[in-house]
Amino acid sequence: MPTESDTGYDPSLGRKFIFVTGGVMSGLGKGITAASTGRLLANAGFDVTAVKIDPYLNVDAGTMNPFQHGEVYVLKDGGEVDLDLGNYERFLDIDMTFDHNVTTGKVYEHVISKERAGDYLGKTVQIIPHITDDIKRRVREAAEGSDVCIVEVGGTVGDIEGMPFLEALRQFAHEEDEDDILFTHVTLVPYSKNGEQKTKPTQHSVKELRSIGLQPDILVGRSPDPLDAETREKIALFCDVPVDAVFSNPDVEDIYHVPLMLEEEGLDQFVLEHFGLTESAASEAEYDTTWRETVTRETEDEVSVALVGKYGLEDAYISIHEALKHAGLKRHTAVDSHWIHSEQLADGHDGRLDDVDGIVVPGGFGARGTEGKVEAIRYARENNVPFLGLCLGFQMAVVEYARNVLGLAGAHSAELDSETPHPVIDLLPEQKELDDMGGTMRLGTHLTEIQEGTLAHELYNGTTCEERHRHRYEVNPDYIDDLEEAGLVFSGTSGRRMEILELPEHPYFFGTQFHPEFRSRPTRASPPFVGFLDGINATRGDN
Ligand code: GLN
Repeated sequence: MPTESDTGYDPSLGRKFIFVTGGVMSGLGKGITAASTGRLLANAGFDVTAVKIDPYLNVDAGTMNPFQHGEVYVLKDGGEVDLDLGNYERFLDIDMTFDHNVTTGKVYEHVISKERAGDYLGKTVQIIPHITDDIKRRVREAAEGSDVCIVEVGGTVGDIEGMPFLEALRQFAHEEDEDDILFTHVTLVPYSKNGEQKTKPTQHSVKELRSIGLQPDILVGRSPDPLDAETREKIALFCDVPVDAVFSNPDVEDIYHVPLMLEEEGLDQFVLEHFGLTESAASEAEYDTTWRETVTRETEDEVSVALVGKYGLEDAYISIHEALKHAGLKRHTAVDSHWIHSEQLADGHDGRLDDVDGIVVPGGFGARGTEGKVEAIRYARENNVPFLGLCLGFQMAVVEYARNVLGLAGAHSAELDSETPHPVIDLLPEQKELDDMGGTMRLGTHLTEIQEGTLAHELYNGTTCEERHRHRYEVNPDYIDDLEEAGLVFSGTSGRRMEILELPEHPYFFGTQFHPEFRSRPTRASPPFVGFLDGINATRGDN
């Protein structure tokens, strides 16, 4: 928080809000544009937070299918949210809470339950004002404690679902000081057949915005290349903004370079001037350049990592890809992580794993593809290939060890085979009772105690770690002694729950019941991922 003593930020200036909407089509990278704007303001010394509005009816993303929506991101308080919140956490280096994700389902659920409780004293309950009031309340509460709050409205302007949110933001802007609000609209600028940048879609989507009472202050044009001067002028003229309020956001290879590009475009200066914050911002000398230094590091090496999972969609494992990238930034190594369908490995790896330097087995639910995961783990263990198992990947490492080292034929997780003679992964007895009452998942941050003298101890550089969880099943306590006698080390525990496993004789065989990928940041790589790359580098050095 830039106080008057460090950057001179004067809190009486009021909290600033940046509302980010999208036009023409979804999937434009609006979230990355919003998060990058936040990064630049954080570099300038401000405390930045974000709110993601998802206009769908789901209350949260917990039940959403990764095949369709990509990964379910887990917050420290156990909130299961859209993967966009992961981008905000990574770009802003903050920990968000469930309250930073506002969905239609959440808002309606709350308003309807208040109505049922008689809280509206017999009034007719309506979208305006009751739904819009609840949206405004949520945005204000989530922004508390920060200097700037970025509010991204998911979807595209014109979507029916988004209307109550846009109306709420219109009212919000009306209620606040004009200097405290900035509207950014991100649109697509396509090319015509003869290679001309076309502004008509942008004009139409701004027209749509204005018809609901919103005038953008900034327009960001997404296109493969930077916008031409002529394109900028046209957009400025027809959308009624100054030319210097039209910014280019061309495709870049690495999303972490988007803040650098927008800085070169002068976006941060424009925003600071709009808010009257130029005086409060960090001086050039104090400006935080850690981000730039980190994401522009030269790589000296490249490694190839197989991600053995069942979801083909790239976004299904986005936090793992990013965590590998962060470890790579720390170790100056480019990580080429590619997906291998676990189902294809069920009957042996057939040479598919021969050329990989390391294997990651991610989390997941349901039996599909699990035999392939077990096979990949066996291959990694027997051939000294560095292995990182996350959640289900950790559980399958226990299954593999039980089957192939302890000789417990048919050992499995009770989740995936209810008939298994050896349920080495099962619900804890106390959870079974809970389950009868519709037990829920173990979610969010929990403390793990780490055994001294282990690899986990070295990686986390301490005797505890706090990581995020999302699971129901655990290592069955009845099998722990046998597994440990056979050489598997449970180096991290949380009461009766096994949290970390490792194999001392292996270059890197490490599994976690938790999901370290959710706390990994470009500037603070996650220890198990850094250890994984170190394991890879060590084995490559041996060859
Ligand atoms: N399906 C397993 C469980 O519920 C693992 C969950 C996961 O990988 N996130 O315990």
